[in-house]
Order: sequence, then C-alpha cells, then structure tokens
Amino acid sequence: MTNIAFIGLGNMGGPMAANLVKAGHAVTGFDLSPASCDQARADGVTVAGSAAEAVKDAEVVVTMLPAGKHVLAVWAEILPSLQKGALVIDCSTIDVESARRAHGLADERGLQSLDAPVSGGVGGAQGATLTFMAGGARNAFEQAKPILSKMGRKVVHCGEAGAGQAAKICNNMILGISMIGVAEAFVLAEKLGLSHQALFDVASTSSGQCWSLTTYCPVPGPVPTSPANNDYKPGFAAALMLKDLKLAQEAALASGASTPLGAEAAQLYALFANAGHDGEDFSGIINFIRGSNG
Ligand code: NAD
Repeated sequence: MTNIAFIGLGNMGGPMAANLVKAGHAVTGFDLSPASCDQARADGVTVAGSAAEAVKDAEVVVTMLPAGKHVLAVWAEILPSLQKGALVIDCSTIDVESARRAHGLADERGLQSLDAPVSGGVGGAQGATLTFMAGGARNAFEQAKPILSKMGRKVVHCGEAGAGQAAKICNNMILGISMIGVAEAFVLAEKLGLSHQALFDVASTSSGQCWSLTTYCPVPGPVPTSPANNDYKPGFAAALMLKDLKLAQEAALASGASTPLGAEAAQLYALFANAGHDGEDFSGIINFIRGSNG
C-alpha cells in the first residue's frame, strides 16, 4: 500500500482517485470544489483542507487539473511540503512548456516527476481503462507504473520531460484532422447519393480506414456505439478537442513545425464550439460541415 495524494478530483480525477482506493491505497485528496470533495469522500478518499496538507505524508502525488497555470501553481504550493524521495505525477493535459517547467520545479527540490496525460475520457477513468503516455526519467516511470496501472490499461514511456504531453497533442491533432476528413467524406457521399452504410463498408476496409470512421463514425447507423447514435452526447466534447488542438498549435509555433491542417482543424473546432456546440461530442462537427444543426 502506498500513501497517495490526489489533487484535482473533477470528472477525471474523481474516478481515478476512487480506483486507487479500490486498489487498496491510502488516498488523501483535495479539490477547490466542495461537491468534488463530497463525492471523493463517498468514494473512500480522505479529504484534506488544502493541497499542501494533502501531500504531507504522501509517497506519490497525482495532479489532475484544468491547464498549465493550475498545475504550476499547485506544484509550487505542494513541493515544499513533500518528503524526500516522493514522486509527483501530473496527469492533466497541458502545454509542453508548462510540463517542462513543472519538471524543473521538482528537479530543483530533488524530487522525481512525470508528465502522464491520459486518453480514454471519463468512461476510461471510471473503468480504469485509461492509456497513460508518460514523460520523465526512466526510474520515475518505473516507480509510477504500478500506480498508473491501477487507473489504466496501458502505460507507455514516451521519453524525457514533456514527452507525454507531446504524444498526447500529436495524437489528438491526428484525431481532430481525421474526424473532419471523415465528416467531409460522408457529406460528399450524401451529395452523390451514396448511402452512409455503403461508404462505411468500403472505407472501413480500404485505405480510408481510421479510428474516427470505425469506432467513432460521425453518422448514425454503421457503428451503433458511436455518439452519433446518441444525439452527439459526449464522448469527447468539442471543447476538449478544441483545447487539445490549441495546445498543438502553441507547440507547433514554439517548435517551428508546419501543421497547416492542424491549424485549420483548430479554426473549424473554434467555429463549431463558438456556435454553441462546445458541449457536444466532437464528431458532431459533421452537422456543422453539412450546414445543418443535426
Ligand atoms: P474538471 O474541470 O472536471 O476537473 C478539474 C478539477 O480541478 C476541478 O474539480 C477543479 O475544482 C479542480 N481544481 C482547479 N484548480 C485547483 C486547485 N488549485 N486546487 C485543487 N483543485 C483544483 O476537468 P476534467 O474533465 O477532470 O479534466 C482534467 C484534466 O484532464 C484536463 O487537463 C483535461 O484536459 C484532461 N482530460 C480530460 C478528459 C475528459 O474527457 N474529461 C479526457 C482526457 C484528458
């Protein structure tokens, strides 16, 4: 049993902390939201009065927060209270630059750290089936792996500090672009009188095959479990896709990479979200491309 502190008990962090409790760990948590604290308490988490108090006896700390500025503020608050040898893992999706700065803060204090964002959404957090993509020193990764495995199905070491965040935004840039490509193909098929099922049957076994088509098909019918069959309820909300595409664009600008389709996808998702669809599943962009509200 490891003493674990968990800061950020929201939609993702709440069920992740609950899975650590189920696995037999002693988990002390903190969140600014009283409702999240109440839920965590009901799940067996000991709720502390502040982030610094939560980490006092922790061997491992996990943070699951909205953005880079929250992670840096929380890490600056908790690092001085941590015992020697403690490991700090950030599972939030944040910009690569902030992730590297967070590692730097831990380094200054001689603490081990890992950036370990996740894929799999709230369902994956609840079912402990997340994929973790980790960046940091190999020994920090080896120490984190048994803990992360209690919250997910796959844990991948992607490289040094920031590599986990880099993998996350590159993957989600592929996803945003490919969903728009699949949506455009279905809209063109409609104009050409080709049925959704016929396009699916061909493309899903041809060179157009991809996850956006075969798992998350943006039209109702061919893949019964896709959000298109459930009124485009998320799933993966358009607001989160937009967040990740913006992070990819920030990273592209900072590193000098050319990502014209990533930039276009970010623009399209911004238009879609600003038109009031930010809470819809990101596959709902097909209705926007078609010019209908679905
Ligand atoms: P959320 O808003 O539900 O949870 C974030 C929590 O952090 C909130 O409860 C908030 O009160 C808390 N918080 C903010 N500042 C704090 C502070 N200073 N101290 C303590 N608590 C603080 O968001 P979420 O959906 O759980 O997402 C968390 C992270 O996971 C984000 O970075 C998001 O991009 C990423 N992510 C989300 C999903 C998803 O499907 N929701 C999927 C993959 C990755």
